Amino acid sequence: MSSRSVSGTTVVKSACSLCFSCCGLLLHVKDGKLVKVEGMPEHPISKGRLCPKGASLVDFVYSPDRILYPMRREGKEWKRISWQKALDIIAEKLLDIKRNYGAHSLVITKGLTYYMGARANAQLVHRFGDVYGTPNHFMADNGCFRTGVVARMKTFGAFVCPDIERSKCVVLWGHNPHASLRHRAWWVIPAAKENGAKLIVIDPRRTPFAREADVHVQPRPGSDGALALGIMNVIISEELYDKAFVDKWTEGFDKLVNHVRAFTPEEVERITWVPAVTVVNIARMYATTKPACIVPGFETPDIRADGFAFCRSLAVLQAITGNFLVPGGLKNVPRWQEHSIRLLDKLEENCLGADRFPLWWEGASREHGEGQATMLLDTMLSEKPYPIKAMIVTGANPLSAWPNTEKVLRALKKLDLMVVMDPVMTQTAQQADIVLPAATFLEKTQMCHFHWEIHGMPYVQMRSKAIQVGESWSDAKFWIELAKRMGYAEYFPWKDELELYDYVMEPMGLTVKGLLEKPEGIMYGECDYNIEKGLQTPSGKVEIVSESLKNVGGDPLPCYCESPESPFSTPELLQEYPLVLTTGSRVPEYFHSQLRGIHQLNNLCPELTAEIHPKTATEYGINDKDMIEVRTKRGAITVKADVTEDIVPGAVNIGHGWQENNVNILTDDAPVDPVSGNPSLKAMLCRVTRI
Ligand code: SF4
Repeated sequence: MSSRSVSGTTVVKSACSLCFSCCGLLLHVKDGKLVKVEGMPEHPISKGRLCPKGASLVDFVYSPDRILYPMRREGKEWKRISWQKALDIIAEKLLDIKRNYGAHSLVITKGLTYYMGARANAQLVHRFGDVYGTPNHFMADNGCFRTGVVARMKTFGAFVCPDIERSKCVVLWGHNPHASLRHRAWWVIPAAKENGAKLIVIDPRRTPFAREADVHVQPRPGSDGALALGIMNVIISEELYDKAFVDKWTEGFDKLVNHVRAFTPEEVERITWVPAVTVVNIARMYATTKPACIVPGFETPDIRADGFAFCRSLAVLQAITGNFLVPGGLKNVPRWQEHSIRLLDKLEENCLGADRFPLWWEGASREHGEGQATMLLDTMLSEKPYPIKAMIVTGANPLSAWPNTEKVLRALKKLDLMVVMDPVMTQTAQQADIVLPAATFLEKTQMCHFHWEIHGMPYVQMRSKAIQVGESWSDAKFWIELAKRMGYAEYFPWKDELELYDYVMEPMGLTVKGLLEKPEGIMYGECDYNIEKGLQTPSGKVEIVSESLKNVGGDPLPCYCESPESPFSTPELLQEYPLVLTTGSRVPEYFHSQLRGIHQLNNLCPELTAEIHPKTATEYGINDKDMIEVRTKRGAITVKADVTEDIVPGAVNIGHGWQENNVNILTDDAPVDPVSGNPSLKAMLCRVTRI
């Protein structure tokens, strides 16, 4: 099995679930307690490394913020109750709400922890919703990387991944691997550089890789789409594109030629603040250094007004240079295949927003099952088209992560029942009627197989339960037990998630037992670059023009539009709010709003700051470490100024996930991307004032 004994200590092989890298772990357990954590040298992603978060696992697991048993709110107090009592209360209330308002009045919100485990766990939640009758599920990845997934599917007919290690030209576009997907900083990009790759970094911030890049450009936040079209224009006008590939494998190139003509280097300089000569240089370097791959940030291209179109532009840039399905460009990764456990025929209606953002729903969510979260708050507040009466939040923290915090709080306060299942007492949990102790990944056996999609690696690992903390339950146990309590036992025949995993993995020919015998994980297939087997698009080619996008609110060509607030779209607002604010940049010490109470990490990253360039700071009389007010149309927060040349002049950068000074007080939740319905979190207007 997966463990061995050394002087009374058992070492359990596992995989960290604190971020998407899912590094391999050696968990040292003594007398049922986690006492030490090391990296697993043979793990194919992390190769023995750990970041500060992983190294703080012991503190995280035994954090004083842990919820140790179910509790019910009584006035301002929390009262301990049993799991049985909690399930009774929840089941009775949900049945009552269904009777009086309809099943759609229950909303279920999941966090990214579901993504870092097994799809089957997420599907189990949806199955509960299917049987109960609610289509209304929302997940954090709505506002994260899903736009890029749908855009690539629409353009290529497949989800393909950058083949970074074999590339000769790596373009990090809004991606900082030193803070997000650390293994790329540890060895993936260094391996490419060792192999002679050039490095282009496109980022308003000077990230660690920007310092060692061959070229670093700092576009105005939110203007990247114009830069992408400008690069295409240079590549086409200088005939640097791959003619043979374009002729044989693309659809609509002739229309693209005319479409990008307006994006001259000079016009792109005006829009993006990137010098015209640099636009030309990037285009030449990218198009003539082969193979090349563009590696976008995890959500930086997505959460903006032109997010879907920009993600399409990045895909088209790969295609017209012939960097599609070639080693060092983009590669095909064998998908994880499994039985679906959805019961879609039980649902009588679609999720909120499915009619307004049909591609989002059909392309990303129908089977997967999540709606566009930006549609939810207005429904909760207006009760149109129907009231939302209950919300179960599992492993998510909408009060921190969702835009427009004040509005989120108003909406949550309208609920008759809010249940939060989480390992720790989050801001959202503090508003709940009932809180439930969720098991961390160390406290349950859990399949981890999403690497094909995130890392381009057909790899699966089974985490073993290593410890028990308090009365924590796995999420699967909660949903199965709640379903039984509500009279749905016939639809939940599995004793636990292990039986469920055995069922869903049948198409892969894998079993829980087999995977537990190989705790370091296994590769289940091989990547390929075979384009000759054809593309699953309507034309069978890479669709530079996708006519069907007209029917779902999009432009058939990759286009550019300004953010709803910008120096060009709202010049009148610029008088009052003269700077461009970008939000959500990552730090290595935390993952979104998680791990905020860990002493060791607080020492490394003690407070939120607002990055502001020295030139901009001087203009507003601000010195380094001054307390400043940052204000947008939505509200204001007070933060310490970090005066640094690492941010483009004229912009302000503020991270997210902090309980105090939550940056989402400044952001807007309006669904501004016409295809995805995402809000614009990467670019808005603000002003700063020294306090
Ligand atoms: S990078 Fe850190 S937090 Fe992420 S999986 Fe690895 S150890 Fe865990």
